[in-house]
Amino acid sequence: MDRRYLFVVGGVCSSLGKGICAASIATILRSAGVRIGIMKLDPYLNIDPGTMSPYQHGEVFVLNDGAETDLDLGYYERFTGLSMQRDCSVSAGKIYQQVLQGEREGSYLGGTIQVVPHITDAIQQRIEGLAEAYDAEVMLIELGGTVGDIEADPFLEAVRRMKTQYHDQVRVAMLGLVPYLQGAGELKTKPMQLAVRELNRRGLRADLLFARADKPVPESLLEKISLFADIEPQCVIPAPTVESIYAVPLHFDAQKVGEKILEKFGITGKAPQMHHWKAGYERRQHTVGSVSIGLAGKYVGLDDAYKSVIEALESAAYNAHLEPHITWIDTEKIEMDDHLERQKLASMDCIVVPGGFGIRGIEGKIRVAQYCRERKKPYLGLCLGSQILAIEYARNVLGMTDATSEEFDEEGKSQHHIVHFIPEQRTITDKGGTMRLGAYDCLITPGTLAHRLYGKEQITERHRHRYEINTRYTPALEAAGLRVSGWDPSHKLPEIVEVEGHPYMIASQFHPEFISSPFTPHPLFAGLIAATDKSPR
Ligand code: GLN
Repeated sequence: MDRRYLFVVGGVCSSLGKGICAASIATILRSAGVRIGIMKLDPYLNIDPGTMSPYQHGEVFVLNDGAETDLDLGYYERFTGLSMQRDCSVSAGKIYQQVLQGEREGSYLGGTIQVVPHITDAIQQRIEGLAEAYDAEVMLIELGGTVGDIEADPFLEAVRRMKTQYHDQVRVAMLGLVPYLQGAGELKTKPMQLAVRELNRRGLRADLLFARADKPVPESLLEKISLFADIEPQCVIPAPTVESIYAVPLHFDAQKVGEKILEKFGITGKAPQMHHWKAGYERRQHTVGSVSIGLAGKYVGLDDAYKSVIEALESAAYNAHLEPHITWIDTEKIEMDDHLERQKLASMDCIVVPGGFGIRGIEGKIRVAQYCRERKKPYLGLCLGSQILAIEYARNVLGMTDATSEEFDEEGKSQHHIVHFIPEQRTITDKGGTMRLGAYDCLITPGTLAHRLYGKEQITERHRHRYEINTRYTPALEAAGLRVSGWDPSHKLPEIVEVEGHPYMIASQFHPEFISSPFTPHPLFAGLIAATDKSPR
């Protein structure tokens, strides 16, 4: 077998940036012409993050095939340019569900089902199956959580078994924290030493150790880690906080991470070529001004809940050589006519109303849309943001004062459901993975703003919604100037709406943020930034 497996695990604590670490390694290996695959294993018991609160888990990242996954998969796609698929995101819940279903179907022929070997085998099969699907030379596997978590043990046991089976073709990279103690005025390596020991206790050794720190890690400390962790000094790699996540691959490349991994795996004749990345990154770094963007979402201040939106905005701003300043607009405060919040709204160069669920803050969002429409402030609506735009237009331009979405009118008080259930969604009771999910085509009407932005008449975008703009009202909305500039191919579902005569008020039922990339911004986001007067012309 010439397939190699590189596991990326975490030590000491979570939130160290394992996803960025794995994505950066993948980027470097890919630049060396290595065929890679990349996946995330999550030890929690939910089947997928689709039903988890953004407070707990951040954004749900949606793939082309409709899988609702962890936001790390967003980074995998943005870094590597590879398209992820459902099997790239595997939770313990999914593994247990598969094994227990097999048990009910009698596949185990009356045997006793155990963590070892049944769960561990299922984990291994998932990894190998995906590596095969990608025909990966090097399969990268990020393990969520921290070594030492009870839940992570079956996964680590699966790694140990693969190691026994495939020897040096299985390698482990650990990202651990080297904390800085204010009082002592120094970086401490003990937590890292203990984390390595935790890994060793599970029969695994670290082949590469990334020392994550908020300060530069001196050579002497790297040597100390190498000594106590019993690992070659050149394989302890400092991973200090850098100015941008997109600098991480360059930082790793400067440390020869790619070469070290290739050497460990015995892959010869290939070398990382990161000049494209470097050029893209440097282009992003060159700014001539700044742009302020108001984000009117539900989870105020919770960046993780809108990770892809923020990434897409940053990409658009930086690529226009503007430094983005993203500010949260709290629509519950707008609802209460909070003076400061209204001032904040007024001072923004442009506004984004991102996706969301539930009624909280909705009235405030409608007012934000009204403000942008009346004051001609650039507005981009994403999914919920498109529904908000249609409701606002119906209320304040068509005079349907009770216009709303079925989602916000459980008691059925409104006569005008401008936004209503997609017909087949109405009867669904199971909440997991049942929305209209994933990539669907959209046809763009020539001569519209959408057409100018995309420069083509057919696009494919990712979706995640249960409701849609009600076509009963689209003739009236269109007659009043809210143009439907994108339709699904059957012409039943409005996909893009835009306000005629407004410099930039456009919204999509889909989520363009999921396919925007760091060095090539998505047209809807690029258009938003270009429409501000901050954009160099
Ligand atoms: N709640 C709305 C719907 O289900 C919008 C969803 C979203 O913004 N992702 O249609």
